[in-house]
Amino acid sequence: MSILVTGGAGYIGGHMVLALLDAGEKVVVLDNLSTGFRWAIPPGAVFVEGDVGDRALVAEILAKHGIEAIAHFAAKIVVPESVIDPLAYYLNNAAKARDLIDCAVKAGIKQFIFSSTAAIYGEPSVSPILEDVVPAPINPYGRSKLMVEWMLADADRAYGLSTVVLRYFNVAGADPRGRLGQSSPVATHLIKIAVQAALGHRNGMEVFGTDYPTPDGSCVRDYIQVTDLVAAHLQALAYLRAGGKSITCNCGYGRGLSVLEIVDVVKSVSGVDFPVRIVGRREGDPPSLIADATRVREVLGWHPRHEDVRGMVKQAMDWERRLHNVGSPNGDELSYTHP
Ligand code: UDP
Repeated sequence: MSILVTGGAGYIGGHMVLALLDAGEKVVVLDNLSTGFRWAIPPGAVFVEGDVGDRALVAEILAKHGIEAIAHFAAKIVVPESVIDPLAYYLNNAAKARDLIDCAVKAGIKQFIFSSTAAIYGEPSVSPILEDVVPAPINPYGRSKLMVEWMLADADRAYGLSTVVLRYFNVAGADPRGRLGQSSPVATHLIKIAVQAALGHRNGMEVFGTDYPTPDGSCVRDYIQVTDLVAAHLQALAYLRAGGKSITCNCGYGRGLSVLEIVDVVKSVSGVDFPVRIVGRREGDPPSLIADATRVREVLGWHPRHEDVRGMVKQAMDWERRLHNVGSPNGDELSYTHP
């Protein structure tokens, strides 16, 4: 039996593939390479280039490879982009997920792990956030992910598809063994942007707003290291295999760090005092998102090991340096073994 990892050529999906192979699992990757990289797929995984919305292809994969469980990572993930082009998000993240779930149900698959997001919470009035807070996303990205959560809950009730929904807070860092990291050529998230500024790959950076109702006025997020995040997925798989019922878990550490604190860490780890411009707020940004991570620890038995934010930043920096020095602009010339 194999695990199907959609989006397995991407950042988080790619780390999941490594973790599954490390654990001795058989893995099939389905990725359309829109943002992922062929070189990121290790030799031990079967790779199928294609789209999760291609029903014929998905049905063929499920039958041919004897898929036991699906871990669905493939998605668009950039909040501001979702504000500019919401229908692309509803197509990629919601409509295509619906097709994937339909194929899974028709193939008799009973286990599904879904990459959701803290963005489904919107601007919660409580902190840290419990999973039971009523979702109220404030951007199309969050809404597109919430739609899939609803589909999965209904699919469980109607067809018995057991699902672990993992709501990611802010994912950062890279494989501690240096095999993979965040590789998209254009940085869209804070730590990668700050790291590029430190390495001189961009001329400084901007902080989007210091007038939020937070201790230092900049937005607060719960940054979770990518290997720790992926470990929660392996726990989820074990939980489903043991007959666990559908469940939704936050994935974070329960610790908030502000944008300005992250900038300071990146400056300190790199030793570079890069220019930082304070500018206006970015649309769609909630002031603070911190996980209550009790459930993932207690129910899934998750034990994070990489909570140190300096370590996360150092991993991101090492990977970025390697990508910049060895890779082509689109990263495609990086080989898996010699990135
Ligand atoms: N941010 C920033 N400058 C940047 C990129 C991000 O100030 O160049 C802020 C952003 O406004 C948010 C936080 O950093 O408050 C985290 O943003 P990111 O895009 O990394 O993740 P999100 O929380 O939106 O998923």
